[in-house]
Amino acid sequence: MSRRGARTLPGLNREIVRCDRCPRLRDWCAHVAQNPRASYLGERYWGKPVPSFGDDRPRLLIVGLAPGAHGANRTGRMFTGDSSGDWLFEALHAAGLCAHPHSTSRKDGQKLYGARISGVVHCAPPGNKPAREERDACRPYLARELALCGPELKVVVALGGFAWDGVLWALGEQGHRLSPKPKFGHGARARVGSYTVMGCFHPSQLNTFTGRLTKPMLRDAFRKARRLAGISGEGD
Ligand code: SF4
Repeated sequence: MSRRGARTLPGLNREIVRCDRCPRLRDWCAHVAQNPRASYLGERYWGKPVPSFGDDRPRLLIVGLAPGAHGANRTGRMFTGDSSGDWLFEALHAAGLCAHPHSTSRKDGQKLYGARISGVVHCAPPGNKPAREERDACRPYLARELALCGPELKVVVALGGFAWDGVLWALGEQGHRLSPKPKFGHGARARVGSYTVMGCFHPSQLNTFTGRLTKPMLRDAFRKARRLAGISGEGD
């Protein structure tokens, strides 16, 4: 797969959008697209695998779990169009990592500065829970994406334990030996080869409604990530 696959990040994105390895997830995304929420009636859902979004030569890679059913699966852009995305982009903007504090559609003019957003799984799963075999089918894309990011990539932020495990697995595919495996936590850091992997609670409603993750915590995490990644200013 990887030998004959895309050799650039845009090419990898095109490959992801065409992917049909997981019939359950492809069916679910199409089902959600045909049954929109009342508030999105009349809107045309993306309903396909969601490509990564952002800089093609990133210094910072942000990795989530999977697209939201009525968020990224609707808009076609990672973390765009739902509450998790509202929290994430507000924090990225506060940290100087994107152009606008909101991300609402693929045509909203949003731009990431030195950063890129991906996921361990690129199709929205029922209940936000991909099956093990679906995770295993999709995470090789993350390993390839990490490799294609090139030497400028310095920091990987994993949003939640699922992403943390996916990132460490993907780095293991690059030959990095991780023993003992670093533990996930908000603020956790692991040096893996030339990368720093940072843990951050996922801005899901499970964390934001309960106060486990606050806006200052999320902003602080991305300010630190930006400094570590050496991203100096807008558009750099
Ligand atoms: S989850 Fe990943 S591997 Fe599965 S169909 Fe979607 S893009 Fe392909």
